[in-house]
Amino acid sequence: MISCSTMSKVKKLSVILVCDTDPDRTRFGAKPLEGTSIPLSWRGVEEGIPDLLNRIEACFHHQAHVPKFTWCLRADEQMRLFYGSYEAFLTQHQPLLQRFKERDDELAWHHHYWRLHESSGEWYQECADKDWMKENFLKSFQALKACEEIKSLKTGWCYMDNDTMQWAKDVGLSAELSAMPYQYFCAPKNQQGLSYGSYDWAVTGDCPYSPSQNDYRVKDQSDSALESACGLREIPISVGRSPLLSWLEQGVMSLRRRRFPEFPIKSSPVSFKITFHPILFNLLWRDFERQIGLMEKPIFHAYFHPDELLRNIDFMTRSAYSIDHLIKNLQFIMKRAKKLDLQIEFQTAAEFREGCQ
Ligand SMILES: [Zn+2]
Repeated sequence: MISCSTMSKVKKLSVILVCDTDPDRTRFGAKPLEGTSIPLSWRGVEEGIPDLLNRIEACFHHQAHVPKFTWCLRADEQMRLFYGSYEAFLTQHQPLLQRFKERDDELAWHHHYWRLHESSGEWYQECADKDWMKENFLKSFQALKACEEIKSLKTGWCYMDNDTMQWAKDVGLSAELSAMPYQYFCAPKNQQGLSYGSYDWAVTGDCPYSPSQNDYRVKDQSDSALESACGLREIPISVGRSPLLSWLEQGVMSLRRRRFPEFPIKSSPVSFKITFHPILFNLLWRDFERQIGLMEKPIFHAYFHPDELLRNIDFMTRSAYSIDHLIKNLQFIMKRAKKLDLQIEFQTAAEFREGCQ
């Protein structure tokens, strides 16, 4: 007879699915804002997300654990300029938010540092004017907080620095979801010398951590038990590597670089999108599976955008990302977990954070 002490404990895999609720992007068929040429439509939110929730209910209702989501709601200066208030997303999508709440999903925050360049009319990612950034950050948060309890943040272009991380701690957020482990990105600059996006997580690892004050990308070595229990926790997006993918990526990049000599080089780990084509997803998952055994508290964190759920977009884009892929990838994860004797637990970011005492 096997005693309790010799019986192996079933290992748990926390699965966190995060959505950045952005408007539709051009390659996903964005339509112009009425009376302008600015591409600004929300079909991904209005059609894609309800479609996803219906599919999830239909495919997983018989499961003990139904996939749940952390919805990062857009609130920032760009929303205020387009719609008159930072919290416009919430006021415009009340029935959808109600549905999220009924599913016990989390309402979190998606904040971009988009700033309008007055003379050219172009939007760029502000990361130098800290006064402007801080005011924008605080006003957006206060507006959201007046409507909903917000515990988690995901930034636009995954941008963070020491100051922005401190602001997130100061307002009492408990989870930050932007880290892209081992990755660095800086988009080419436009004629005004401004960039549409950048991030630096080059020295960040895979595991959740309490960020250091001196370097937001790494663990605070003096992390006290109290901070560990109450403070903000960075929860990196899961990554996988594939020699085949890196080889293909380098080929595409060098072709592009011939046309755009300053095109940036992106490092080889790939952050998981749950909408990836299953072939790509499976290739990355093989590497991720090797990491699970090394994790003290195994976690799989993947993200997506609402427009990736749309059906009537062009064939190439639909082949890369789709709602069908998302469903297949979730089924694949469940199958693999069973095979590996892992107990899947779908959690929101805040639930995962609460379990990190
Ligand atoms: Zn975004």
